[in-house]
Amino acid sequence: MGRVYNFSAGPAVLPEEVLKEAAEEMLDYRGTGMSVMEMSHRSKAFETIIEEAEQDIRDLMNIPDNYKVLFLQGGASQQFAMIPMNLMKNKVADYIITGQWAKKAYEEAKKYGKVNAIASSADKTFSYIPDCSDLPISEDADYVYICENNTIYGTKYKTLPNTKGKVLVSDVSSCFLSEPVDVTKYGIIYGGVQKNVGPAGVVIVIIREDLITEDTLPGTPTMLKYKIHADNKSLYNTPPAYGIYICGKVFKWLKKKGGLAAMKEFNERKAAILYDYLDQSKLFKGTVRKEDRSLMNVPFVTGNEELDAKFVKEAKAAGFENLKGHRTVGGMRASIYNAMPMEGVEKLVEFMKKFEAENLK
Ligand SMILES: *Cc1c(COP(=O)(O)O)cnc(C)c1O
Repeated sequence: MGRVYNFSAGPAVLPEEVLKEAAEEMLDYRGTGMSVMEMSHRSKAFETIIEEAEQDIRDLMNIPDNYKVLFLQGGASQQFAMIPMNLMKNKVADYIITGQWAKKAYEEAKKYGKVNAIASSADKTFSYIPDCSDLPISEDADYVYICENNTIYGTKYKTLPNTKGKVLVSDVSSCFLSEPVDVTKYGIIYGGVQKNVGPAGVVIVIIREDLITEDTLPGTPTMLKYKIHADNKSLYNTPPAYGIYICGKVFKWLKKKGGLAAMKEFNERKAAILYDYLDQSKLFKGTVRKEDRSLMNVPFVTGNEELDAKFVKEAKAAGFENLKGHRTVGGMRASIYNAMPMEGVEKLVEFMKKFEAENLK
């Protein structure tokens, strides 16, 4: 059995070239006689791996010198606590609730201070991004928090909120490296890498240096302080070494593809194939307000649960995996991250057309 088209929301498809290269290096990484998995994280070989990975993501995202890049563990979810523990000086933060991940971050932050939900799209099942041009930002907010691409609901901010001068913190797990970003607009950009960058187990935190202080909330564990990781270049303890190595390879793959501007162009063309079809289909329809559509996660429904289930089943049999929507929303979702080839989406749409012809009464 060959490789399938994997539309999983995460862990998700990785570039085949990267997987092949890793396979070739599995037993003997470049003459070291061992796998990267078996290697000391203090070795010269690993030092080169992590330093190159950092430089490559800096190049790709054009990260200014006054930002640190941290390779941490605990997934994106651990950041839900780490952010308030490190950033809350006034113990006030504003959250914009655009889906389940933002909501979870908000609930977690409540343990540490006064947390305000200043906007939400819960009223329409998170199918849009609220207008964030003039929100009631708290006078003493330590930061404003967003989830920039909503993996489950398929929405994405096309303009960042007006934070009225407050620090912006953004979870970019599911749109990481999918298009260029202006890092200077953020205090923290972070993401679990298993959606668009690498294997589960690594979370990358890009943080402005002035936000890295000793002044964390009382009782903050050592491992949850940005400063300890920044001071030790992500090598305070054993990092998720193999995961970082694969991320590094993905960064090089992205550079070879022409960087983030080229990725954006590719992702726009790729997503348009699916959205254009959805817009004219008589069976399937997209669930998100057009102007807020994500390039990465595309939810759609037939409007009939039985037909949805039939579609998912037949698609799977035809080699299109993981098209079932999130368990909380149902329907279907195609996650079409950087590593999903154009052909994967073209073939999916062909399959959908066939299904539509067979099932439209
Ligand atoms: C998957 C996801 C998370 C949770 O990631 P974990 O690494 O499993 O903790 C958080 N935010 C977004 C946007 C996600 O897509």
